[in-house]
Amino acid sequence: MSHPHPELSAPPELAKGALRVIPLGGLGEVGRNMTVFEYDGRLLVVDCGVLFPEDHHPGVDLILPDFAPIRERLADIEALVLTHGHEDHIGATPYLLRERGDIPLVGSELTLALLDSKLREHRLKETVHHRVREGDRLTFGPFELEFVAVNHSIPDALAVAVRTGAGLVLHTGDFKMDQLPLDGRITDLRAFARLGEEGVDLFLTDSTNAETPGFTPAERSITPVIDQVFRDSAKRVVVACFASHVHRVQQVLDAAVAHDRKVAYVGRSMVRNMMIAKELGYLTVPAGVLVDAKELATLPPERVVLISTGSQGEPMSALSRIAQRTHSFVHIEEGDTVLLASSLIPGNENAVYRVINGLARWGARVVHKGNALVHVSGHASAGELLYCYNIVRPRNVLPVHGEIRHMLANAELARMTGVPNVVVAEDGVVVDLVDGVASVAGKVECGYVFVDGSSVGDITESDLKDRRILGEEGFLSIIVVVDSVSGKVSGGPEIHARGNALEGSSFDDIRQPIIDALDRAIAEGTTDAYHLQQTVRRVVGQWVNRTHRRRPMIIPVVIEA
Ligand SMILES: [Zn+2]
Ligand SMILES: [Zn+2]
Repeated sequence: MSHPHPELSAPPELAKGALRVIPLGGLGEVGRNMTVFEYDGRLLVVDCGVLFPEDHHPGVDLILPDFAPIRERLADIEALVLTHGHEDHIGATPYLLRERGDIPLVGSELTLALLDSKLREHRLKETVHHRVREGDRLTFGPFELEFVAVNHSIPDALAVAVRTGAGLVLHTGDFKMDQLPLDGRITDLRAFARLGEEGVDLFLTDSTNAETPGFTPAERSITPVIDQVFRDSAKRVVVACFASHVHRVQQVLDAAVAHDRKVAYVGRSMVRNMMIAKELGYLTVPAGVLVDAKELATLPPERVVLISTGSQGEPMSALSRIAQRTHSFVHIEEGDTVLLASSLIPGNENAVYRVINGLARWGARVVHKGNALVHVSGHASAGELLYCYNIVRPRNVLPVHGEIRHMLANAELARMTGVPNVVVAEDGVVVDLVDGVASVAGKVECGYVFVDGSSVGDITESDLKDRRILGEEGFLSIIVVVDSVSGKVSGGPEIHARGNALEGSSFDDIRQPIIDALDRAIAEGTTDAYHLQQTVRRVVGQWVNRTHRRRPMIIPVVIEA
């Protein structure tokens, strides 16, 4: 659910010369990152991502940041900066562009290429792109931007420094400090130090792994583990990872070559993204290793590797379909190995273990984060964050990107290094930087926006509650006819139960209490159908709870005849 802050009210008008930060998503959950900066009446947006739904969001495809707080001010947006190509940073961009198509989009080569394929799917043309790389400086209205290389679980990620009259802001985006990354592109701590020397007034830092002590291991450290998995596999190897994890895919391609296996991509986003990464030179595909997925059937199983999407247990993904044996051409057999080379994003645990169990049931050996070092995180651990605070020496810190526990842990790290002012804020909580000091100024209303098929924002959190109740508890319908002249129950109550333990049970005990309650309500002057229905709902609800310990959806219908 969203993060209401009843103790806060709307922020006052922004003071002249001050900078306002309005987080619309990502501060309170891992996903749908979006932060708005306001200065001198103009807006700069950093990231615009999606959050993937969990089990308690039945029928929801995606969750977006709430654009409502800036909907009246879309014309004031100078640019949308995309720090990197992950879905939780770019995925909601098409939905924002539907509201204003010519917002300038700023990002690195790979980030914009991944975004581009998404924009084409949404049939958005005529978009405005500004391709940048580390070291570049670009000015949009009152915002002077400078881009800094950061290392993450996708190539070509950038941190962004924003200079305005209110001071210097540094936003890390998602980052870690792998000192020996596969592509040699490290987080540019020299630039962090230079900006620190200049004086960083507000530092927004990735909180995802702030609770994890020490340092995130190097991506390279999993190479020997992948090699061992290949050596131990007598039959096919299926590797599931994020469709954007170019370096992980690179490691699997290299292992396949070393073990004389052929590789095919399974899953639309994997095929598409790896094509883009290869074309732009971020992925090196050794000659002859890649084959079409359908060709694999002609090869003996010990020569086969599949690289698939679905490492988070997404129900429609290739891996989920493989686990349920509904995939059109991949059938798991006894002796196959499945390698889940990915993290477990909080909230996805049930879905992932469902997939692991499904695969194991068909006889596959499943190697995952829980039983081997087959994944390293893309985010800085506590040790790296401490380094950053000591290097940058910011005046104010605002932890971003994480659940509240992650942000609080990150805040504590900042305080330990002596940062004078740390502000923890969740989505919608407005933070102003005035005369070099950041503080909470109020809140804007900002909830979760659910995408359900082609509808955006039509379903609400209370609709979802109804769906959950229907799914888990079924429903009870009660039809009563009240004679409008005599004010007495003249038909029913007719009671039906569907989709729950009450189906087929006897409702004899409750009929008379319903009639009595209605008679009493009418005698006390209640005449309208709505309030009579509420009476029925209350009587039936208490009875089902008392006698059956259930809370089905109760649909009372009172007809006046
Ligand atoms: Zn990321
Ligand atoms: Zn992220």
